[in-house]
Amino acid sequence: MRRAVGAIRVSRMRDASTSPEVQEDKIKGWCQLHDAELAGIAVDKDVSGKGVSPWEREDLGKWMSRPQDFDVLVATKLDRVCRDAMEFFRLIVWAKENKIAVVFIMDGIDLSTPGGEMAAKILAVVAEWDWNRIRENTLDGQQKAISQGRFKGAIAPFGYRQVKETRDGITGTWLVPDENLVGIVREMVARVTAGRESVASIARDLNQRGIPVPADAHRIRMGRPSKGAQWRSSNIVRALRSRNLLGEYTTNDNSTLRDETGLPIAKAEPLVSRQEYSDLQKALDKISRKKEANRPSSSEYQGVIVCGGCGKPYYHLLSHGKGTYRCSSVDRGASCGNRSVRADVIREQLDSSFRTAFDGMPMLRRVVSPAEDHSEDIAALTEELDNLTGNLARVKPGSTAAEATLRLIESREESLQALRSLPERRERVEWLETGEDLTSVWDGLSDAERGLFLRDHEVKLYFRHPRGSDDVSMLVMWGRLDEMREALASRSA
Ligand SMILES: [Zn+2]
Repeated sequence: MRRAVGAIRVSRMRDASTSPEVQEDKIKGWCQLHDAELAGIAVDKDVSGKGVSPWEREDLGKWMSRPQDFDVLVATKLDRVCRDAMEFFRLIVWAKENKIAVVFIMDGIDLSTPGGEMAAKILAVVAEWDWNRIRENTLDGQQKAISQGRFKGAIAPFGYRQVKETRDGITGTWLVPDENLVGIVREMVARVTAGRESVASIARDLNQRGIPVPADAHRIRMGRPSKGAQWRSSNIVRALRSRNLLGEYTTNDNSTLRDETGLPIAKAEPLVSRQEYSDLQKALDKISRKKEANRPSSSEYQGVIVCGGCGKPYYHLLSHGKGTYRCSSVDRGASCGNRSVRADVIREQLDSSFRTAFDGMPMLRRVVSPAEDHSEDIAALTEELDNLTGNLARVKPGSTAAEATLRLIESREESLQALRSLPERRERVEWLETGEDLTSVWDGLSDAERGLFLRDHEVKLYFRHPRGSDDVSMLVMWGRLDEMREALASRSA
């Protein structure tokens, strides 16, 4: 019978689902179901809210130092044991070396083949994990505010300003469009989407006109002097990439916070429509693809590979013909001891991991049925009718002119009636399956495009190969699968 150790972390801030009793119940339940004997339960209080690594934890640390005494490490959720992706990777490597199975019950992560190879399946499970969402010290306190749509940041995103008021009986800070900036935002969106001028020239123009950058706009609103910072391509692109434009609540990495039903949480009125946002992103993609074309060849996956030894990024080495990536600690003269890796190894790993993560996910196409709104036509016709009636009063009754005017009035009235009987409809967005698989889009991407896509979505490949060892570990951390799926779908459209 396998011996299991349960890991419980008691948070400073807790709710029913994270209470130590609930965690213990779930762990015991798992053991029963999987025929494992509970060798012990490590309970650690997280006093600081920041936590320490599993190896340094007072209670769990004791078990981690004697891996020979158990076979399975069980916790309810990943965030009860690891604080970030790097720590998770270290745990995986440790588990592999010590032939320990790792199970996170509620995340559906079950690495229960001790010592076995990291199966592709495992990589896909990890895929759904969103590290930015689990940091409870940043989120727990804010969750309530966010779910109400209140704003919990220091600086309003560009185009918005903060107001303190009471809505539906809740008093707090809310975001509203900043009347002084909405026009500028919309102008920037339109110019970049049109693609007729470079982002740099738009930046020059904004600077000449004295348009404040987001941070200065905030200072001015607060009655403080502007620092006169300049617009550059980079801060324009950042402002226009932000989903804040859609009024959505975003995290630092620009991913959208969603409620339990998966719908984005709105914090403010959008500055642009979804269609405008999607056209804008396509224009920005085009610009970054152009830049990408100027990158030296086979540095495609730079920015994706993270050193599993020291956590630093891996850089592409131009001098090596085949294309090699190396830990950047080497450049600082203090190599962490992790070996370099060939580009084709990385390429293959990312490719197979993609296929696992997106396995069987159908390709979706966004279909917009435009709104049907006839109010403008109706207004125009009504005005024309008014004019015609005015004309009729000025001409002699029974004259040819009067007859002609009457006929015109009749025909316009008919059109007006027809228009009024037409249904009015709001814009409708639907996602339809195209019958294709997402992998078909992936297959069509070049290495450079794949690298760009992965960087855009902050996908990381953790790589570890200690010098003097044959043991290679790799783990791909996929972020938000739903957002990547949307991005891939729009790429093929
Ligand atoms: Zn390193």
